Amino acid sequence: MSVPTYEVYAIRYARRDARRHEHFVGGDPHDAPMPMDYFVWLVRNAERTIVVDTGFTAEVAGKRKREYIRTPKAGLALLGVKAEDVREVVITHMHYDHVGTFFDFPNATFHIQDDEMNFVTGRYMRHARFAHSIEVDDVIGMVKALFKGRLAFHKGADDIAPGVSVHHIGGHTPGLQSVRVHTQRGWVVVASDASHYYENMETGRAFPSVVDLGAVFEGYDKLRRLADSPEHIVPGHDPLVMARYPAVSKELEGIAVRLDVMPSRKA
Ligand SMILES: [Zn+2]
Repeated sequence: MSVPTYEVYAIRYARRDARRHEHFVGGDPHDAPMPMDYFVWLVRNAERTIVVDTGFTAEVAGKRKREYIRTPKAGLALLGVKAEDVREVVITHMHYDHVGTFFDFPNATFHIQDDEMNFVTGRYMRHARFAHSIEVDDVIGMVKALFKGRLAFHKGADDIAPGVSVHHIGGHTPGLQSVRVHTQRGWVVVASDASHYYENMETGRAFPSVVDLGAVFEGYDKLRRLADSPEHIVPGHDPLVMARYPAVSKELEGIAVRLDVMPSRKA
């Protein structure tokens, strides 16, 4: 039997202004604006709907001074997905901007790496350097979900569905995982924060939020092994994703793009 294909979407739910030196270990000699986008991703075909990450809430956006566009749930609704109908959610990692609206998916199983739950319930949370990107209420919520049998644990690589798999990367957080999806253009890898920007992986300069720098560099290689080409790797926070991929429709320009079609090289 042939492997099924899926449509893949990036949905932008928030953004912020930032500068280049904030996005590279060791800074950057050219200090210029380099804004950051915040995404959730949708993987679907006629049989299955899989959501990758759940973003953050308006409340957390206010607290952390991010520009909130809409809830991930509202973004998904624009693509015809009802959050309460979603059964499978991949949590790439437990940072506030990836797990924050988990409660909007009351019927979902959350796919997460062993290492990530260990990380956010373990000794490193004593250190502000690591804890500041985590909302404790998100951790409590996921522990409650665990006791309701709603967490699916993965250690390394695992299939979520035929043609959709998670792959442990680590580095940025110990249990960071990326998602590999079979599409009409081949194997696409939703890297999430295995590479925040195209430039991080392309120039081998890591994003400064990091637990294990070596694992970040190993991760860039792993992304390239998993994807059909570098143009099949989708970084986690790069506004170029919105520029390179086509909008889902005229109405969704600046909101949602199709990742299962080839990006343009113009942007
Ligand atoms: Zn992130």
